[in-house]
Amino acid sequence: MLRWIDVLKFAKYSNPEPPRRLELSEDQWQARLSFAQFRVMRQKATEPPYRNAYCRSYEPGVYACRGCGTLLFDSSTKYHAMSGWPSFTQPVARNLIRYAFDESHHMQRIEALCNICQAHLGHVFPDGPEPSGLRYCLNSESLERLPAAEPPLE
Ligand SMILES: [Zn+2]
Repeated sequence: MLRWIDVLKFAKYSNPEPPRRLELSEDQWQARLSFAQFRVMRQKATEPPYRNAYCRSYEPGVYACRGCGTLLFDSSTKYHAMSGWPSFTQPVARNLIRYAFDESHHMQRIEALCNICQAHLGHVFPDGPEPSGLRYCLNSESLERLPAAEPPLE
């Protein structure tokens, strides 16, 4: 299980090796994503709180990256953080998310990105519920919920 100390180490020293990589040009991303998805995933915009697809949605399923289709989060780790965005306590595997220090907007935060396609997902904070204590605060635009079927990717 990932904890805050692991997230800090990944952001500060080196991120886990991804299981694969998807690299596209900005034009290719623009063609592949909706305008709102492109703004969030490639330009690091933040969608509005509460007015997004998965904020209040707790149906069982898995959440895949909209950029590359990799299964990143499971509904079993989704919880009600009252933040206005979908929130999770763990990714399905530690090598699927990469972390970066983000000092934009006069805040010190840790950005969470897809480790396969480098899409901006959101941020991770150390104020989540035990036992991990993590809160992955994500944009719905970066995610697509699918029915749970396959086991999580390693
Ligand atoms: Zn991705």
